[in-house]
Amino acid sequence: MNDLNTLVSPPKMDAVAAHTPVPITVAHGDGIGPEIMRTSLRVLEAAGAAIAPETIEIGEQVYLAGNSAGISPEAWESLRRTKVFYKAPITTPQGGGYKSLNVTVRKSLGLFANIRPCVSYAPFVATKHPKMDLVIIRENEEDLYAGIEHRQTDDVYQCLKLITRPGCEKINRYAFEYARAFGRQKVSCFTKDNIMKLTDGLFHKIFDEVGKEYAEIEKEHWIIDIGAAKLADTPEAFDVLVMPNLYGDVLSDVAAQIAGSVGLAPSANIGEHCAMFEAIHGSAPRRAGHDSANPSGLLLAGVMMLVHIGQPDIAEKVHNAWLKTIEDGIHTNDIYVEGVSRQMVGTQAFADAVIARLGQEPRQLSPVRYNASGDAFAVPVASERKPARKEMVGIDVFVHQTGPVDDLAACLKKSVAGSYDLSMITNRGVKVWPNGLPETFCTDHWRCRFLVREGAQFNKAMVVDLLRKLSQLGVDFIKTEHLYTFDGEPGFSLGQGQ
Ligand code: NAD
Repeated sequence: MNDLNTLVSPPKMDAVAAHTPVPITVAHGDGIGPEIMRTSLRVLEAAGAAIAPETIEIGEQVYLAGNSAGISPEAWESLRRTKVFYKAPITTPQGGGYKSLNVTVRKSLGLFANIRPCVSYAPFVATKHPKMDLVIIRENEEDLYAGIEHRQTDDVYQCLKLITRPGCEKINRYAFEYARAFGRQKVSCFTKDNIMKLTDGLFHKIFDEVGKEYAEIEKEHWIIDIGAAKLADTPEAFDVLVMPNLYGDVLSDVAAQIAGSVGLAPSANIGEHCAMFEAIHGSAPRRAGHDSANPSGLLLAGVMMLVHIGQPDIAEKVHNAWLKTIEDGIHTNDIYVEGVSRQMVGTQAFADAVIARLGQEPRQLSPVRYNASGDAFAVPVASERKPARKEMVGIDVFVHQTGPVDDLAACLKKSVAGSYDLSMITNRGVKVWPNGLPETFCTDHWRCRFLVREGAQFNKAMVVDLLRKLSQLGVDFIKTEHLYTFDGEPGFSLGQGQ
């Protein structure tokens, strides 16, 4: 299978007449972006794609003109109107103050599913994994990409990892729907829930819950570290993979590279209302202007876009011509290998070769078939849930302080009154009081856990009271986390060593 299906309720062919141009928003991006976007559009248009591109400016120039988000209000208007974004890679300027435009666009438009097919094209593109044909479905909005970071003390910086039930439900369901729609046999979930039992644990739990509804599909869960090792070593053992944002970001680059080149891999970002299509690689600034970049990732993203907007016949034509070009050994220098390739070409000549093969199909690689009638599935939405019974059972107070933990504990104990106790202090998650080990390295950042006594109650007024007392005692508290149970289940982790 070489197809790049991402079909999610595309417009029906009779709703979008084959020759009615579909407005799409196009950004030419930075670095190699303008070259590969011009090239890709040239191929799509030569194949007869009925698209009406609206160009927007995003990226480096917009950032440097003082817009820290890298995108203007007019660009948002175009995106919200067309709902289809064909985007070249952009450069995020180094240094603080600039938010990643890619993350902003994905999250603002609710593009929760990132679909990254990684396929090898052996023997025409050199790879150690000739049978590789997998799709990574990466959660695209959550995890550490919330971008909520704080410096809390002299020594300690924090990035908040947010995993939500609706987010897990939508992406896991998307993965199973995708597998079912496109005849894939297995869905593998990667998490690190042996360590992050609440956040990654939720992702895994919902994978198991949702998976029960797809009896015909094989399911498995891998701890990310050994799963990544297996993926790098034996990618043909995988079919569809689903994982939280950061793991998916890293592993899809690895998977694309071992399939042949990051330059070959496209991606679709799908949401309930909009979709964005891009290459997985970045703007490769050192290659810019040399006519040497491989336009394949962006071109194949264009193929995914054509399927999405209801032009599967054109998608098929472009994709088969591209496969034939690869099969004929006409390669850009990132995939050129003496003895495997026949001719090294630049970006423009590669596009010319694809255009010359429009209407042809590969002979050895399997030709793709995109389905006009649409065996597509609806974009999953999260189910309604009854709120849990939530009870407050304590508070973690984070304190900035240097000096011995026993002094801190003695000071904090003075603040305890009536219905709760100081139950433990941890440093970087490890319990250091009571009964800590002298070998444990400590920073200036302490998590001090106060827990309600058996039979007593804790409430927000007591939090205010506790913090007032800590302030009077001169304790430099820098953050608090409330400790709740939800339907009796603790909504917080234990300290390591507790
Ligand atoms: P990169 O993907 O741009 O480049 C990594 C390596 O892959 C380089 O050696 C490059 O030459 C090669 N490469 C990438 N695309 C290629 C292609 N089409 N043809 C041939 N070779 C190709 O990653 P980077 O160097 O880490 O990032 C450069 C810039 O891109 C940064 O500013 C980064 O923030 C940005 N970036 C943007 C996106 C995006 O817009 N979606 C994604 C990733 C990185």
